[in-house]
Amino acid sequence: MSTIAAISTGQAAGGIGIVRISGENALSVADRIFRSVSGVKLTELKGYRAAFGKAVFQEKELDEAVALVFRAPKSYTGEDVVEINCHGGLLVTKQVLRAALESGAVPAEAGEFTKRAFLNGKMDLTAAESVMNIISAKSDQAKQAALNVLDGSLYKKISEISLSLKRISAQMAAWVDYPDDEIEDLSDEKLTNTLENAKNELKTLISRFDRGQVILEGVETAIIGKPNVGKSTLMNMLTGYEKSIVTSVAGTTRDIVEETVTLGNTVLRLADTAGFRETDDTVEKIGVDRTRIKSGRATLILAVFDASAALDGEDEEIFKLCEGKNAIAVINKTDLDQKLDTEIINRVFNNIVYISAKEERGLAELEKTVEELLGTADFDTTQATLMNERQLVCCKSALDSVEEALGSIEAGVTRDAINVNIDVAIESLDTLTGERATESVVNEIFSQFCVGK
Ligand code: GDP
Repeated sequence: MSTIAAISTGQAAGGIGIVRISGENALSVADRIFRSVSGVKLTELKGYRAAFGKAVFQEKELDEAVALVFRAPKSYTGEDVVEINCHGGLLVTKQVLRAALESGAVPAEAGEFTKRAFLNGKMDLTAAESVMNIISAKSDQAKQAALNVLDGSLYKKISEISLSLKRISAQMAAWVDYPDDEIEDLSDEKLTNTLENAKNELKTLISRFDRGQVILEGVETAIIGKPNVGKSTLMNMLTGYEKSIVTSVAGTTRDIVEETVTLGNTVLRLADTAGFRETDDTVEKIGVDRTRIKSGRATLILAVFDASAALDGEDEEIFKLCEGKNAIAVINKTDLDQKLDTEIINRVFNNIVYISAKEERGLAELEKTVEELLGTADFDTTQATLMNERQLVCCKSALDSVEEALGSIEAGVTRDAINVNIDVAIESLDTLTGERATESVVNEIFSQFCVGK
């Protein structure tokens, strides 16, 4: 396999920048672009050793650097790896990378380091996928859930289910293939119990998926309400709540900026909030969010009402938008005299929170209500969590096959036919962990990574 190189740290100026080189020739490539102060060559160093010196290219000094040596198989990728730590300037890291590429390495593809780790048996697919979630985690709960999967919680759970099915499958196959030997026939009871158990475990995993996604990916949230009810003030309160976590990411859609705020453990993904801060146009103000609600993209609606004003016709439209949705009525301006008819609100909404955005009161209550509504409050991040659609699809197809097998037992179908269902279930589970994933599945997964990971 070729020796690959990439910048593994973020594409922004920072204290340290790391160029990672992995492959058979990693040490000799690194020796061409690194001179240690002590004169020692990296090829002479044992694993887990560091050398201080200079990154150089064709006798020209590029930067001061520290080279870390990892020897196969004890490295992230399972191959020889050198990490050159230089100053984190964009130009510096690019020059060091260029030097590595001119000295025998080829550019790493997206996710190639982690893909090699998978191919070399350093981690299974669920662990590799969790790396992506750890990198993008915006809340502690999200990070914990992902770390747990990296630690093997999901792999262990899926392997256990798969192994229990493999055992009964092997026993049935042996009994069919060697009828003369004294192989114990699998009783219907044992077969049913094993399948029922697999079914329940898979159902539990699947039932946790939506809540897990809310924790891992955040929840698409729409804030709606008439002009002047306090939407912007609420937004400011939310963003001010944990300013360091507020990010503005240019979305893929033209001009749409997505902002995320962390409300306790829940990451709320908000639409173009900058837009509704600047405009006075009512239609435009709730326009973005109205589209998001109608298209079903918004999973959570915060409908803001002014406690100091009576309801009017315009509120009817807001009621309609909230029908049948995960909506919370946020009654704002509770510091003023109340004129709002809360009885009507009580009839329309199951969840109501009273706040004063101006006085920054009621946020804890809002946080609690959101968590209860989304079921994230008691989500146990120490349990195995499915991290993405791919894993969900594998689990669902395994469940279908297990249920088919159970149906076949009841219908009195031959063991041979039942075993076909069980084999399909095993295949789905082994695809999930990567034990039997096809090359195209593996390529697809790692292509979603960034270069350098
Ligand atoms: P938006 O049009 O819904 O975004 O409303 P704004 O956030 O711009 O607020 C409209 C006005 O209501 C502003 O003058 C705010 O200062 C005021 N306001 C917002 N929240 C409160 C509150 O909790 N109490 C009081 N008394 N005034 C508030």
